Amino acid sequence: MIDFHCHVDLYPDPQHIIQECVLRNIYVLSVTTTPSAFHGTNALTTGMPRIRTALGLHPQLAHERKHELRLFTQLLPSVRYVGEIGLDGSPELKQHWDDQVLVFRSILRECQAVGGRILSIHTRRATSAVLDHLEQHTSAGVPVLHWFSGTTAELKRAIAMGCWFSVGPAMLATQKGRAIILQMPRDRILPETDGPFVQLQGLPAYPWDVNRVVEYLVSAWDVSNNAVRDQLRHNLRTLTSS
Ligand code: MN
Repeated sequence: MIDFHCHVDLYPDPQHIIQECVLRNIYVLSVTTTPSAFHGTNALTTGMPRIRTALGLHPQLAHERKHELRLFTQLLPSVRYVGEIGLDGSPELKQHWDDQVLVFRSILRECQAVGGRILSIHTRRATSAVLDHLEQHTSAGVPVLHWFSGTTAELKRAIAMGCWFSVGPAMLATQKGRAIILQMPRDRILPETDGPFVQLQGLPAYPWDVNRVVEYLVSAWDVSNNAVRDQLRHNLRTLTSS
């Protein structure tokens, strides 16, 4: 299976999680929240081709870590995946909005300069703003909007712009989340967990909890478990060969 947005380095025991992912043959996009975390996180999975490390600068840390943009630029040519990046319009972060925009736009510009990357993007309470900036940087790469929580109109706009979506157990917890997944193109969905930030029954979500997404899609799409898995594998191949 596939977990296309997981903070592997932030579990109390990353080695254990990684071993389990290798045993279960799970493809993981291991996202980071700061450029300075990239090397250490990447080193955790040396020689494990199915666990890929993304270079990120999380919008919630933009104001504290904007000086790491220089390191981001240095590391970018050597990576294929960028994330977690994006914008967060939550009330407690509004005071740092200008820094968030500065960091996000700078990253999109850098991605354009190196020919585009696959981008795992945070959009909480900021979907329209994220789409506005993506629209101004169309060659930054392929945007994968993680944990989409926007409106149906915003979803339609994102689809028209060519965005992909990674959906996790947290979205399944609400009627709104379940309904929005149904409106996403089946050939642009990947599973994710956002562990360990996302908690399930008091425990951090683990990469193998993407099975909950598979189970939901089996019933929502009314197809077999194998058909869902085939579709998701096909999607990953399409995205990574783009
Ligand atoms: Mn995340």
